[in-house]
Amino acid sequence: MVQRGEFLYEGKAKQIFATDDPANVLMIYKDDATAFDGTKKGTIKNKGIVNNRVSCLLFKYLEKHGVETHLLTQIDDRNVLVKKLQIIPVEVVIRNVVAGSLAQRLGQDEGTALAGPIIELYYKNDDLHDPMINEYHARVMGWANDEQLRQIQMQALKINELLQAFFDRIGIILVDFKLEFGVYENRVLLGDEISPDTCRLWDKTSLEKLDKDRFRRDLGKEEEAYQEVVRRIEAELK
Ligand code: UDP
Repeated sequence: MVQRGEFLYEGKAKQIFATDDPANVLMIYKDDATAFDGTKKGTIKNKGIVNNRVSCLLFKYLEKHGVETHLLTQIDDRNVLVKKLQIIPVEVVIRNVVAGSLAQRLGQDEGTALAGPIIELYYKNDDLHDPMINEYHARVMGWANDEQLRQIQMQALKINELLQAFFDRIGIILVDFKLEFGVYENRVLLGDEISPDTCRLWDKTSLEKLDKDRFRRDLGKEEEAYQEVVRRIEAELK
């Protein structure tokens, strides 16, 4: 039985609590949804439950294929026990298809397949609106050292290969997604979550969006889209 201890942190979609073991923390998923740097706020019914489920299933799948993550145990529908990482304040975005900020910044058509994956780094800082950085910024500012950056990029590419193939099998295009890494006993582990909040997921046939863009772009049927993702993942892994 895991005891919920001291409140540690509240983010946009999750709360973090200490546990009786200082090496672990409890993550609790909320239904709150935000977009555009928190300027658009709302809730998506049962989003926390779906994101916890999706993230746990995908992290377990990645672990099975040799990617070390913070996941320990899913406690219940909204609670998950994870290893406490020292989070590296760099968000890693991996892209397979043009969308979102890449389409805008480089004037590319959304939906164009990329010739290979693109990795982008952003400094995790809400006040500065998560500015894009490169490896030099991360190294010189002391956010990650050479070896950690090498690990992050190797793991990001491996995760992309695994998840692109996995989603393809359930009729979904993995357009792009965001990862966060942290240090645990001198190793770089995957942390945070992988869910329809942090990925762009398009139905392979209809190109319908099954992710947070439904909320960002007021497309409606957010809850249904999130449920459809969890339904297909569970069917594939059963
Ligand atoms: N993303 C995220 N958190 C962020 C920024 C981006 O999870 O703070 C995800 C987003 O859902 C998408 C990918 O990273 O799957 C690329 O996002 P993009 O840079 O296109 O930014 P956006 O236009 O979505 O703000």
